[in-house]
Amino acid sequence: MRDDVLPVAVQTRALALAAENQLPAYLYDLPALRAQATQIRDALAGAGVEFLYAAKANPDPELLRVIAPLTDGIEVASGGELEHVTDALPGARVAFGGPGKTDRELMTAIRRGVWRLHVESLRELNRVIALAGRRPVDVLLRANLPFGVTGAALNMSGPFGMDEEALAVAARTARDAAAAGSGVRVRGVHVHLASGLDAEQKLTLDRRVLAWALWWMGEHLPGLESPEVNLGGGMTVDYAEPGHHFDWESYAKGLAELSDGSCVLRVEPGRSVSVHAGYYVSDVLDLKHTRGQAYAIARGGTHHLRTPATKGHSQPFVALAGPGRTGEPLDNDELTVVGQLCTPKDQLATGVPVRDLRIGDVLVFRMAGAYAWNISHHDFLMHPHPTFAYLDAAD
Ligand SMILES: *Cc1c(COP(=O)(O)O)cnc(C)c1O
Repeated sequence: MRDDVLPVAVQTRALALAAENQLPAYLYDLPALRAQATQIRDALAGAGVEFLYAAKANPDPELLRVIAPLTDGIEVASGGELEHVTDALPGARVAFGGPGKTDRELMTAIRRGVWRLHVESLRELNRVIALAGRRPVDVLLRANLPFGVTGAALNMSGPFGMDEEALAVAARTARDAAAAGSGVRVRGVHVHLASGLDAEQKLTLDRRVLAWALWWMGEHLPGLESPEVNLGGGMTVDYAEPGHHFDWESYAKGLAELSDGSCVLRVEPGRSVSVHAGYYVSDVLDLKHTRGQAYAIARGGTHHLRTPATKGHSQPFVALAGPGRTGEPLDNDELTVVGQLCTPKDQLATGVPVRDLRIGDVLVFRMAGAYAWNISHHDFLMHPHPTFAYLDAAD
C-alpha cells in the first residue's frame, strides 16, 4: 500500500498545506484530471461514441470546468445537480436522470432547456408530457433489463427504469402525445445496469444491451432518425491497485466493433473520470497500541472521506515525513488508520505495513476524486470542514 508513486507536485503541495496548518485538505490535480478526461474523450471519439460525465461522482465546479469542454455533456441525477451544473457551466448540455423526479425538478429541467431527460417510469413520462406542453423535451426511456452482471461491484437493477411492458406503453404514449401536439420526443433508450465493471465485462454487457436496444427501437420507435442508446457508466476503478486504470482504449475499440453505425452510442462514466485526480491529505495526530492493535489517528476521517467505510476497502495512501514530525517512529505490518470520530466505523485503512511513521507525518490518501467529499456526512461531530486546494498547470 505504501508505494511511493505520487506526483511530485502533489507531494510538494501536501507538505506545504501541512506547514501552513491547512490540513485536512482535499487536493485536486487539475492537469492530471484534464489528461485523464482527454484520454477518455480521444478513445471514445475515435470510436464515434459520445461521452457524458456523471456529475454525482464529483460536482466540484473547478473539476466541472476542466472536464466539461472535453465531453459531449454532463449527466445530473437531481434538480439540485441540474441547477448547480447549469449555474457553473452556462450553456452546457445536460442530461437529467434518476428516480423520483418531482414536478418542481421537471419544471426546472424544462425551463432550463435540458438536453436529454432520462425518464424512469410511465407515470413520470405522463407528468413530463403534462408539464412540457408544446415545449420541446427530448427523452430517453430508461430500461431495466434482466441481464445479470457477474463481477459487478453494484448491480443497479431495483427501482431504476422500466420493464418491457411499461416501455412499450411509454413508447406508444409518447407517440400519441406527439401526434396531439406535445413537444416531448422519445430519442432512444438509456441503460445503466451495473458499476465496477472492467472493459471486457462492460463490453459483454453492452453487447447484450445494444442488441436488445436496436431490436426494441426498431419495434417500438419505428422511423426514428438517429436513435440513441446511452450505455450508462460504471467503469471500474481498483482501490487496491491505484495504478490500474480502466482500459478505455480497448473498451472504445470494442464499442466500435459492436456498433453498426445505425444509432448514436453514448456513455456516462463518473468515478473513472475523476477518482485519480483527487487526494485527501491528513496528518497523524496520535499513534497508539491497544489490545494488540496498532493505530494511527489521522486528522479528519470518514466524515470527509466516507468511501472506504461505504465500500469496505482500505483507502490507498502514501505517508510523507511531515514538517512537524515528532516522537518515536512506528514500524508495523498491520496498521489501522482511523479518523477523529467516536465510532469504530471511522476506519480509513486497515492491515497496512508502515515503516518509520511518526506523529505529524502527512498521509496522502489517493483515489479521493470521486464519491468522496460529496458522499460524506460532513457535520457529524462538528469538526471543521477540510481545505480545498487545486493544482493547476503552473504547479
Ligand atoms: C451513478 C451513475 C452513473 C455514473 O456511474 P459511475 O460508476 O460513477 O461511472 C452513470 N449513470 C447513471 C444513471 C448513474 O446513476
